[in-house]
Amino acid sequence: MLYNYEFIETKPKLNKKKVFFVVLLVLVIIALAIYSAMQLAKQQHEKQLAIQQAKQLEEARLEEQRKQEAERAREQQKREEQLAKNTNPFTEEQMQAVENIYQAQEKKRVFLTFDDGPTQAVTPYILDLLKKEEIKATFFVLGNRAKANPELIRREFEEGHYIANHGYTHKYSQIYQNNQTVIDEYNYTEQCIQEALGNPDYHSKVFRFPGGSQGGYYNAIKKEAKQYLRQNGIVSLDWNCLSKDAEGAKTKEELLQNVINTMGQKQSVVILMHDAADKILTYETLPDVIQYLRNNDYEFKTLYDIL
Ligand SMILES: [Zn+2]
Repeated sequence: MLYNYEFIETKPKLNKKKVFFVVLLVLVIIALAIYSAMQLAKQQHEKQLAIQQAKQLEEARLEEQRKQEAERAREQQKREEQLAKNTNPFTEEQMQAVENIYQAQEKKRVFLTFDDGPTQAVTPYILDLLKKEEIKATFFVLGNRAKANPELIRREFEEGHYIANHGYTHKYSQIYQNNQTVIDEYNYTEQCIQEALGNPDYHSKVFRFPGGSQGGYYNAIKKEAKQYLRQNGIVSLDWNCLSKDAEGAKTKEELLQNVINTMGQKQSVVILMHDAADKILTYETLPDVIQYLRNNDYEFKTLYDIL
């Protein structure tokens, strides 16, 4: 009996412990289940977020791609419109637009022009700067430089600048012998530009006489050649403002001051500058010139804008 009694006494004690452990186990299992469920939910959520983010990134990328394609198409369209102006002969109106370039307009305007290039030493820097500033200019190129640096001629055209003609040799005694030597240099330079562009239909039809179309020892020949060129559908263009970068100005301040002084109160300005190999100072002064022109409300134009 004693044995039995003890047995009966100990039995509930064992059950309590068991129940406790079972309950504990169940609680642990429930806790683990909840924890796992939460983890799973969290992972799901993170996965969703990652998918969403990837989607947004992809959409942004596609949007950017669309924008770039549209921009390229716009640029392509512009180049084609420009090329049409170089392909057909000038109308009388177009020639007059160049000849009357200095006439005041409703808005102040400025044409940046660079002569004697293109050169590896200066032209790429000027092109980079113009691109950054979103300014189009006009380059009066030399035939011999175009021949040496065709990729720069292509770049000038691709970036929307007007390529005009400055003759082949730049040697006054050679070019200014007579009408024919002037037009020969013009024609040969046109050929160099065409070869650089890979386009035999490109015609600049705008000539800048080395040293300017007036004055100097060869004034009489220049005057005659100017008329002769015009009869052949080629207009000449000088300038009404200059930095004197080819006349010995030695500092940025001097170059800028020359631009300011020769510009005066003119409403339509054609600035003569150079991108010859020794004209890095012209490039270095250009940001100040641009700033000055912007501060004075000038709009930057290229020959394409008036043709
Ligand atoms: Zn020149």
